[in-house]
Amino acid sequence: MSRIDYNLKSIRAIAFDVDGVLSPSTIPMSAEGVPMRMANLKDGYAMHVAAKAGIRLAIITGADVPAIPGRFDVIGVQDIFMGVSDKLPVYEKWLKDNGLEASETAYMGDDIPDIPVLRRCGLAVAPRDAAAEVKAVARFVTGADGGYGAARELLEEVLRAKGLWPAHSEAYGW
Ligand SMILES: [Mg+2]
Repeated sequence: MSRIDYNLKSIRAIAFDVDGVLSPSTIPMSAEGVPMRMANLKDGYAMHVAAKAGIRLAIITGADVPAIPGRFDVIGVQDIFMGVSDKLPVYEKWLKDNGLEASETAYMGDDIPDIPVLRRCGLAVAPRDAAAEVKAVARFVTGADGGYGAARELLEEVLRAKGLWPAHSEAYGW
């Protein structure tokens, strides 16, 4: 029995915010003050497994840096939307372009710009350290903070529900 109160078998695609979700809310800055994102390797493995299993993955972020496609293209995230200030129209177009119903998608976000998509998508998920307003609209709040395994929790629940989470003997190679 999943900890998530949703028909996880119906999830065909998952979209993620980056800052505060795939990367922590507190991050290093370069000497010039440029934020340096961080990536969680266990999130990355689960994203790779999900992509290989045919779950469509997307990133919708206000950030616009080469590090994001550099990291997530390789893992199998097919749709990467950067420099997005208004996320809902991008999410709607993503649904349309991929023949997805909102109910077949999950979205994970951590702050106020994510709320319109969280309200629209089927399964709204927030990391434990998301803004209070965001947690209030989320159907599932992860036990982990953003950037520290929150995405892994969601992906593992979805993949287990679909019978696609690999046993150690059948773990996918890179
Ligand atoms: Mg964020």
